[in-house]
Amino acid sequence: MGLVPVDVKRAKMSLRSFDRLQFLGTGTSQGVPMIGCSCEVCRSEDSRDKRLRSSLWIRSEQYSLLIDTSPDFRTQALRAGIQRLDAVLYTHAHADHLLGLDDLRCFCEKENRAMPIYSHPETLKQIQGVFPYAFFPKVRISTYVQVDPIAVELPFELGGWWITPLKVEHGTIQTYGFLFERNGGKNFAYFSDCKQMSEEVIERLKGIDYLILDGLRKKPHPTHLSHDEAVEVAQKVGAKQTYFTHITHHHSHQERERMIPHGLPISIAYDGFEIEL
Ligand SMILES: [Zn+2]
Ligand SMILES: [Zn+2]
Ligand SMILES: [Zn+2]
Repeated sequence: MGLVPVDVKRAKMSLRSFDRLQFLGTGTSQGVPMIGCSCEVCRSEDSRDKRLRSSLWIRSEQYSLLIDTSPDFRTQALRAGIQRLDAVLYTHAHADHLLGLDDLRCFCEKENRAMPIYSHPETLKQIQGVFPYAFFPKVRISTYVQVDPIAVELPFELGGWWITPLKVEHGTIQTYGFLFERNGGKNFAYFSDCKQMSEEVIERLKGIDYLILDGLRKKPHPTHLSHDEAVEVAQKVGAKQTYFTHITHHHSHQERERMIPHGLPISIAYDGFEIEL
């Protein structure tokens, strides 16, 4: 029969590449389902229509990196089984990308150190405004969260990656997307919140394998790319595969997939989805 003994399966697993991305959340700021909403999508039984707030976990052999700490971070970390985190990158300081910061405390305690957090100086200042106690603890208590802020405006090296912060338009708040390169190749980039991408950024992303892009909803929005706008940006960049994230409850996963023009390498991401690099 085709049954494989469990230990052989495990052995095969350990031979697989450990470099992967996991979407911890793919929802817009209120998540899906939305509190108090009984629309069809919020009542959907398709697990892909259950979206926690947007965040990405990057695992490589050397490092475990996180982009943003959503208000759902505790649930996400438990669900994904995150055991270790080496650093967190922040795209911007909106609540849906930040409010889980306090739950980094277990990683500070485990490693007995402050968690390095990387972002634009302005974003770090905003984060400090929300979590002052994590920046300047009066007394260092090992079970409390403590961060080590690292301001980045130029490309930097972390965990074997060459990471380039790229500014995008997202309302009035300073917002980054991040491009990850390794061994001279453009592996992936993450732009969860974006209304407009400059020609310069689009040029920088050309030749990339995976583009993760804000694709909020069908109807235009003042601070996020709509579905059609995101398709346009995706086509300009021309990644091997593009994934839309930061999705609202206006359409189901299936409906959103059907809206993608035929033959384009674009998919709608969902919680728990993994990309092997
Ligand atoms: Zn957001
Ligand atoms: Zn709804
Ligand atoms: Zn935002």
